[in-house]
Amino acid sequence: MNSKLVGSGMTSARTRERMVQRLGDAGISNLHILEAMLHVPRHLFVDEALAHRAYEDVALPIAYNQTISQPWIVARMTEVLYSHLSPTASVLEIGTGCGYQTAILARLFRHVYSIERIAPLLERTKGRLKQLHIANLSLKCADGSFGWSQHAPFDGMIITAAAPQLPAYLVKQLAEGGVIVLPEGENTQMLKVYRKEGDRLHISELEAVRFVPLLPGIER
Ligand code: SAH
Repeated sequence: MNSKLVGSGMTSARTRERMVQRLGDAGISNLHILEAMLHVPRHLFVDEALAHRAYEDVALPIAYNQTISQPWIVARMTEVLYSHLSPTASVLEIGTGCGYQTAILARLFRHVYSIERIAPLLERTKGRLKQLHIANLSLKCADGSFGWSQHAPFDGMIITAAAPQLPAYLVKQLAEGGVIVLPEGENTQMLKVYRKEGDRLHISELEAVRFVPLLPGIER
């Protein structure tokens, strides 16, 4: 039997509906975000052996020692970004990983630019996002701390790995009024939002979080 059918009990639309319901119970109220999470098949972003756990609210291991973020944190960061931006926004994501967060963003914003430092991980993700027919995105292998100057300025940025402090290049590539959402800190991390207003950056702190670290350079 086709492996997709064997796994269908744990990976069906019903299971995804329950995940979305739990996100709602946990305080995610934006219907656009919930709708996007209802649509994107998270089980296709993890190894087949873990697909039956894809709709639990936990981070799971992916290849190359990285993780797919917990659904709640994906929803939370997306919700924060969405509350500051319009659907016509262009968004830069740093830390493509398996591409789950990327796929959610692509449903909500005009264009998503996403950078990943591990080349073979990005190659796999490229194939997956192509299979899902997501067209409004651009991917590249690089150290995301330098941003993507060719496509700047960005209305929003989301960093899905923890940085000790906000990388300075990113601020330069942020549009006026734009926002950056990131986990900041080393051992203990805080989810922070930076908003650019003229020469000033307004900072707000949300909650304590845990992410893999933002690392320098690229890995082939
Ligand atoms: N967005 C993913 C989370 C991936 S984990 C999700 O939807 O689940 C964080 C990712 O950031 C890892 O794949 C890691 O390789 C990548 N990363 C770490 N430092 C980076 C950097 N400087 N530039 C780009 N990607 C980086």
